[in-house]
Amino acid sequence: MFNTLQSRLWFTYIFLISMMLCIIGGSIFLVVYRGNVPLLQASSALQTLRLAALPRLNSASDFEPETLQNMLTNNSASLLQGRIVILTTDGEVVADSSVDQKPDLPDFKGAPQVTEIGELPILYRDSGRRAWYYIIDALNDDLLVFFAVNRPRLQIVAIFRDQYLGPLMRTGLIALLVAFILSTLMSRWISAPLRRISREARQVVDGQAHPIPPEGPEEVQQLAVAFNDMAHQVQTSQQSQKDFVANVSHELKTPLTSIQGFSRAILDGTVETKQQLIEAAEVIDSEAGRMSRLVQDLLTLAKMDAGTSAFEMTSLNINILLEIIRRKFTPLTEAAGINLHTAICQEPALVMGDADSLMQVFDNLMDNALKFTPEGGQITLSSNITPEEVEIHVVDTGEGISPEEQKRIFERFYQVDKARTGGKFRGYGLGLSISLKIVESHKGTLSVTSQPGEGSHFVVKLPLQK
Ligand code: ADP
Repeated sequence: MFNTLQSRLWFTYIFLISMMLCIIGGSIFLVVYRGNVPLLQASSALQTLRLAALPRLNSASDFEPETLQNMLTNNSASLLQGRIVILTTDGEVVADSSVDQKPDLPDFKGAPQVTEIGELPILYRDSGRRAWYYIIDALNDDLLVFFAVNRPRLQIVAIFRDQYLGPLMRTGLIALLVAFILSTLMSRWISAPLRRISREARQVVDGQAHPIPPEGPEEVQQLAVAFNDMAHQVQTSQQSQKDFVANVSHELKTPLTSIQGFSRAILDGTVETKQQLIEAAEVIDSEAGRMSRLVQDLLTLAKMDAGTSAFEMTSLNINILLEIIRRKFTPLTEAAGINLHTAICQEPALVMGDADSLMQVFDNLMDNALKFTPEGGQITLSSNITPEEVEIHVVDTGEGISPEEQKRIFERFYQVDKARTGGKFRGYGLGLSISLKIVESHKGTLSVTSQPGEGSHFVVKLPLQK
């Protein structure tokens, strides 16, 4: 519950909102505390005091100390807990509203100065460290009146509670509500595609996964794209595994049925003459040979897939291998009524490679050319050297391969027309995939270009030995 994206977002928002409210509340508190509210209150108290006292003092019959002292006794200063003192212009006390002479007078630093109009009251501290504000007015040319009031103690908590707490709480609640909506939307935005990915991931094993549309934040979209790629690869590999097993069983079934049929015929005496017996034995031999070739090819592929095929890499001259191939195929092409043309380059083409495997590649390409070229056609085996590579070309004037088929002929068990390439020499559609694997293991490339009806052109490129 607390581990979900939504709850995490929600708690983060609550934390942030609380932090913000605390900071704002704290700042307001400080502003109120440090603000000029006490000064304004003191100003107005001093004004009140002044307005109440000055006209009365001005109306005095004389300005004798006793008269003034009498006027100051029982005046509003005591009500306001302030003090009114009548001073000479030198600062001598003439009359005082305070019996105990509290608060102490400030240090005027010389003669007391009349507070100008618009000037703010002056703050000072008495001997008990209490803060006071005062102003000084002129009563006449010789006398000054000093008014002092206590700096009002602010009920900051009360002010804060009455004025600011309510709005702050309301703002906090609205922010929490917005945060809840936002966190819900945000977590849905992120987690909905993630949930879909995890749901589809479970289906991958059964081969049932569907492509996921890229939704949500950029990172999640990238994950969806990567997941789609992965699911596609898994499905392709599962499918090719199934196809592989189906193909192997299919390819084994035909020769096995044939072998079984002929051996039964021998056993139950259907085969009567020696001639029939020889023919049956020949079929059994040829089918067993085909099966053995298939098993051999499969083993080669399995070893290369597992990376355990033991290539014996030596420095070898490709031209010598091509010469051996030429010798092998000369009588075969002659027998098939096909013209074999060879143009092997003169310079030695040295590569690091496994001679047997590379021979298998050239043999397969030549074998295919022979199989798919009709009588009267031509096969050209040539090589040339570039600064980096040696290129081996096998060109025939056979039936060719359509562009769609060209992409697929390197797949395992793929044959353009299974029924066509007949006879006991019929392949399994494994030759080119094995050849491609071998060439790639030598860091080379194997490619084809072809015009249906005109012939095919296979090129092997191998890096030259440095
Ligand atoms: P196979 O052993 O059946 O020949 P390959 O893997 O060598 O298997 O070839 C796969 C398929 O590619 C062949 O069945 C054939 O249809 C096509 N192919 C290969 N080489 C040629 C070629 N030279 N001309 C026409 N088709 C070819």
